[in-house]
Amino acid sequence: MKIAIVGSGAMGCRFGSMLFESGNDVLLVDGWKDHVEAINRDGLKIIRESGTHIQRIRAAYPHEASGEVDLFIVFTKAMQTDSMVRSCQQLVGNHTRVLTLQNGLGNIETLEKYVSRNRLIAGVTTFGTELLKPGTIQALGSGNIQIMQADGKVTKEIQNITDTMNGAGMNVEISPNALISIWNKVAFNCVLNTLCTLMKNTVGAVGSYSQIEQVIADIVDEIVLVAEKENISLNKQEIINMIIHVFDPNMAGNHLPSMLQDMENGRPTEIDYLNGAIVKKAEAYQIPVPTNRLIMHLIKMMEETRSLPIPEGVH
Ligand code: NAD
Repeated sequence: MKIAIVGSGAMGCRFGSMLFESGNDVLLVDGWKDHVEAINRDGLKIIRESGTHIQRIRAAYPHEASGEVDLFIVFTKAMQTDSMVRSCQQLVGNHTRVLTLQNGLGNIETLEKYVSRNRLIAGVTTFGTELLKPGTIQALGSGNIQIMQADGKVTKEIQNITDTMNGAGMNVEISPNALISIWNKVAFNCVLNTLCTLMKNTVGAVGSYSQIEQVIADIVDEIVLVAEKENISLNKQEIINMIIHVFDPNMAGNHLPSMLQDMENGRPTEIDYLNGAIVKKAEAYQIPVPTNRLIMHLIKMMEETRSLPIPEGVH
């Protein structure tokens, strides 16, 4: 299969490398100069439990990429999707399928500007990856993927894509519940990513707060109400249990969520596609979501003020 990975950071490189290894024609597309140059010069370095592997896979800038592909996998951060896809639309032909496994709400709506719902596939993944430096990623364990075509149909094309990805060891399942899983993961990230970012601490430390269950319930309650308005029925208790399980200090270890890493490194966060998206939808449905609104503002306030030094002499 001819595949373009559109946004080849941590996850894009991971997926690209797996699909390349199983014999597909893969192009990593990215705008980060040092990263693209390192991959083309030294190969993509993938650090796995089994050791470090170097893959001679091609990388290109969006404007250099050419030729329509069978599968166009979007792996930018949610707020980068529109500009990235616009800059490599030439890769999308009449037969091209576009796949997003990005976090957050709104990715399907952004991609619909470029491709109709019968050629758009969305889902979630539990794979995790870190980008250590240009050209080098660390693959964190294994994972699985749930996908569905955005129009809900199961076609031979989505089946072909599933077979190709499973041939690369990706544990893909076509599921009518993929949309619910996207929302479940949004709820998870609305709690876990934001609280760890605000507390500037690990998942385990935040999870050790004596009243964490109340905080989780307050955030998730509002998300479930908004989802209901979109005819998406979420199981509140199941989501809360899943989050409590991950927050358990005996489970969580020293993990720092990606939002905290983005915050610490001066990068924008995906807040507008998490709690921010919940607030926007709630406004349209006229539902009050004060907890999510406050969290959204606190994260945005951190983003806007993190570079301001405390003036000298202030105690
Ligand atoms: P990342 O920041 O590592 O990668 C994004 C890449 O896109 C970068 O290399 C960047 O240079 C490139 N890019 C962005 N805008 C561009 C533009 N306009 N032109 C050219 N290149 C551009 O992000 P990631 O961690 O791989 O995450 C991607 C998505 O997957 C996010 O939605 C994230 O929440 C989700 N996700 C990540 C993980 C993980 O473990 N990293 C796990 C599950 C889901």
